[in-house]
Amino acid sequence: MESATQPEAGTGQPGATTNGDQTSEGAASFEVLRPVDGSVIRSVAIDSPPRVAETVARARAAQPAWEAIGFDGRRRWMEELRDWILDNQDRLDSMMQEETGKVRADAALEAFYCLDAINFWVDQGPRLLADEIVTPHVALLRAKRNKIVYRPFGVVGMISPWNFPVILSVGDALPALVAGNAVVIKPSEVTPLTVIEIARAWHEEIGAPDVLHVVNGGAETAGALIDEVDYLQFTGSERTGKIVMKRAAETLTPISLELGGKDPMIVTRDADIDRAVNATAWGGLVNSGQICISIERVYVEEPVYDEFVDKLRAKVETLRQGADGDTYSAEVGAMTSPPQVEIVSEQVEDARASGARVLTGGKRGDGPGDWYEPTVIADVDHSMKVMREETFGPVIPVMRVAGVEQAIELANDTSYGLGSSVFAGDPADGERIARRIEAGHCNVNDVLVNYNVLGLPMGGWKNSGIGVRHGAQGIRRFCRTEALTIPRLPQAKSEPVWFPYSARKRGAVRRLYRFLNARGLRNRLGL
Ligand code: NAD
Repeated sequence: MESATQPEAGTGQPGATTNGDQTSEGAASFEVLRPVDGSVIRSVAIDSPPRVAETVARARAAQPAWEAIGFDGRRRWMEELRDWILDNQDRLDSMMQEETGKVRADAALEAFYCLDAINFWVDQGPRLLADEIVTPHVALLRAKRNKIVYRPFGVVGMISPWNFPVILSVGDALPALVAGNAVVIKPSEVTPLTVIEIARAWHEEIGAPDVLHVVNGGAETAGALIDEVDYLQFTGSERTGKIVMKRAAETLTPISLELGGKDPMIVTRDADIDRAVNATAWGGLVNSGQICISIERVYVEEPVYDEFVDKLRAKVETLRQGADGDTYSAEVGAMTSPPQVEIVSEQVEDARASGARVLTGGKRGDGPGDWYEPTVIADVDHSMKVMREETFGPVIPVMRVAGVEQAIELANDTSYGLGSSVFAGDPADGERIARRIEAGHCNVNDVLVNYNVLGLPMGGWKNSGIGVRHGAQGIRRFCRTEALTIPRLPQAKSEPVWFPYSARKRGAVRRLYRFLNARGLRNRLGL
């Protein structure tokens, strides 16, 4: 990658006239950094609000034809995108690593998800968005054919974070596109490059219709996008989510919010401790703990607490941290955003100062870049920030609990409600605990796995969000519903309930309603 001082084109889309203007001297831009050492990869031009409006208008102009080609027509382009990703996977993985600091195995998750999700949505979309026939509950209305029709909103905006830059933008755009929408993505200004490259390829290499665009920048660009689109999906922090919701209220733009989490894990005394330990290490540290559904709090029953903590420390001490290129020789990479390292560091110091034991890790890496060691903290409690605030870093705090009831109470003692895990000897016991946890998902004897079951809704309770991705709702949210009533039989010139009114007609209607809604023959007949 070059280290350009001149801003690069924002979107890479052909015919995006202001790209040229923005790369001229004096144009606003931001720099994208390599988290492994803090050096500059390149700068990216900021899309101003008028430029955002222009891009959305362009997407809007292309959308009707995209809708009109139907599922089969769209399938063709989506499958071309899938094949392009397959052909360019190594290059995309490298690009992703460079801008995020991920290890190779974590970077590769992004393409894997998109490949699977394209096939899922092109296969399932037609079924999930098929017209639904509704049989009226009132027999008299059965002379109509009643249908629910799913129609795309038009232009969907996506504002996305830096932890999974492609999954949470292009990945979430897939069902919107399959449903017949155009999509404009505003990637995180921390990690926009791989998304820009995919949008470039959609236009220049695949030659697909003009329905997938990227605009770049921070809050101003994002705000302009909210103003212009017909539906907005936001993925990011709770704090920004609230700002987005307020902004969307100004135009009454429907939104879904995928926000932060503080996901608990409960380990019961009869659980398979080795599996629970391995799951905790991975669920807490994959992607350096920067996953909204990372395991961020572990509650372990007293009789197995010491064994669990010892084994978890030993496991985490075996992990290799570093920049592994394409060698798959490290498990934990850098963190992606410098301010996040500060948050993690502050929470660990707060726990340490309050008497928690840092068993391994617990400090920043030496030298430049955004490094924080994989960390296990024992003997924490709910007075500590690390158990109450989102950490979003490679830190696993473990708390001793007297029993399952206390574990459930503590697991629910949070303003978040994104995900959770339970490890129990008997999966049926795990399910009983899972059904009492206040969160959008619970994996029994597993971690994170629900994200790969695309038929399951994925979204948060409480302050973790509004709406879901995945499942039937994950694609239907990108559509308006239209209710149709269509006559089946020849029709009279007028209906009894239409004008003119008369005492005789209204009396008959009244008797009819009584007959239909009262219970018991005498009562129905008004006797
Ligand atoms: P963030 O809220 O700082 O930024 C997210 C996006 O919002 C970025 O694109 C940013 O440019 C944009 N933005 C910033 N200010 C804005 C404003 N005033 N109006 C509109 N948009 C604005 O979040 P982040 O630091 O990029 O990501 C980390 C957060 O994302 C964590 O809280 C994490 O839990 C959450 N997250 C949630 C999910 C989920 O599915 N629930 C998934 C991944 C990440």
